[in-house]
Amino acid sequence: MKKQVNIIGGGLAGAEAAAYLARHQVYVNLYEMRPYVTSEAHSSDLFGELVCSNSLKSNDLDNAAGLLKAEMRVLDSLMMEAAEASKISGGRALIVDRHKFAAYISKQLENNKYINIIREEVKEIPEGITIVASGPLTSDALTKTLENLLGEQMLGFFDASSPIVTKDSLDLSKMYEKSRYENNDGGYLNVPLTKKQYETLVRELVNAKRAPLKKIDEQYFEGCLPLEVMASRGENTLRFGPLKPKGLEQEDGTLPYAVVQLRQDDVAGNLYNLVGFQTNLTYGEQRRVFGLIPGFENAEYVRYGLMHRNTFIKAPAVLNKTLQLKNYPNIFIAGQLSGVEGYIESGASGIVAGINALRLLENKQLVSPPFETMLGALLNYLENAHIKTFAPMNANFGIIYGVNKQNRLQKASEAVEKMKRWKESIHG
Ligand SMILES: Cc1cc2nc3c(=O)[nH]c(=O)nc-3n(C[C@H](O)[C@H](O)[C@H](O)COP(=O)(O)OP(=O)(O)OC[C@H]3O[C@@H](n4cnc5c(N)ncnc54)[C@H](O)[C@@H]3O)c2cc1C
Repeated sequence: MKKQVNIIGGGLAGAEAAAYLARHQVYVNLYEMRPYVTSEAHSSDLFGELVCSNSLKSNDLDNAAGLLKAEMRVLDSLMMEAAEASKISGGRALIVDRHKFAAYISKQLENNKYINIIREEVKEIPEGITIVASGPLTSDALTKTLENLLGEQMLGFFDASSPIVTKDSLDLSKMYEKSRYENNDGGYLNVPLTKKQYETLVRELVNAKRAPLKKIDEQYFEGCLPLEVMASRGENTLRFGPLKPKGLEQEDGTLPYAVVQLRQDDVAGNLYNLVGFQTNLTYGEQRRVFGLIPGFENAEYVRYGLMHRNTFIKAPAVLNKTLQLKNYPNIFIAGQLSGVEGYIESGASGIVAGINALRLLENKQLVSPPFETMLGALLNYLENAHIKTFAPMNANFGIIYGVNKQNRLQKASEAVEKMKRWKESIHG
């Protein structure tokens, strides 16, 4: 019988999944709604369009994005092939000519006899094995279908994320552990602020440079205000909001003037997010202003705070690390919609969705890369993160067990070797 898979979305994840399946002689129906229906961010009808920056980040192996790209090369990534063909000499970062990059991907997909391109908006998920890779700006009709399938609570629509920092980059002598209501609701670190420190932070937040916003992003603000907007509403707003000291007495019984609270973000306890610090400040300003918080002088950010429209599923509740929906074995979710964040992360997840769609066709056990690899760790994070606070995650070393600044390069080299062996094992 003809092996066939449907893919919804010809973005980065959909393109990778299609390329993988076609390489393994699986027929693909690749649905792409552009140019008939388009999103606020896309501007062409090309596959694999980069909607914003033209950087695929660092190529260095001891950088999380560099490691993920090395792993993608092991897995014969189409994105990496396109990047090689379209790169602009950009030092240690992989910068591409965005048109050449997307044109390369489009040509590979369009000229492939296994890939049947269907230019239409999918409103219902088709019968048969299907990879949904419709991205952060999934069309309204398909979003509604996903809501009906998974439940309204299982979809997030806006990425209003607080920065995440590594614990070992913080000066913990300036912080104390305490949960606000003593109900053992997870690990918290608290930074006490004096009146002067609090006032300085508020002043700098109000005056800091903000990233320009797209029209689609502005409408969400009232429901989830950025820290700097809250700060500009009055001197005490933050002290009665995310920086409130209530319930956070120090060991000597005193209550600080204000408290910056950090909440554990990963199972291993390497990552902490700044509670209530969703922000639209530029990355440089986040480093500068949050660097004023005691203990943050050398903070390492694995993810900066951001705010933009972003449709994603609450992966820890509904998705396996194989990218198969727990309750719908024929449906895989890949790309930004699955809860990863970023171009390469989206593309990489598309490869795994392709691998598992093929395995499902062949009645083989589904797989996920080893958790010592960046891609494996990312998918492991999707499966095991806290559901309540889940927000999309990008590649970073904090999600791999046992990696620190000193052993990064060695662990990264080992991860690439593990990925090679994993590839052999699944194709052997
Ligand atoms: C405004 C914005 C800026 C971003 N900037 C960056 C950045 O600079 N760097 C970075 O690393 N990441 C960035 N991201 C995050 C993310 O990496 C990109 O969105 C990335 O393109 C996600 O890849 P994807 O394959 O999941 O989705 P996409 O690349 O968006 O692909 C999804 C595809 O599905 C199609 N589609 C949607 N609905 C349907 C439907 N119903 N039927 C058929 N087709 C459909 C879309 O037209 C699109 O082609 C940004 C996200 C947004 C929203």
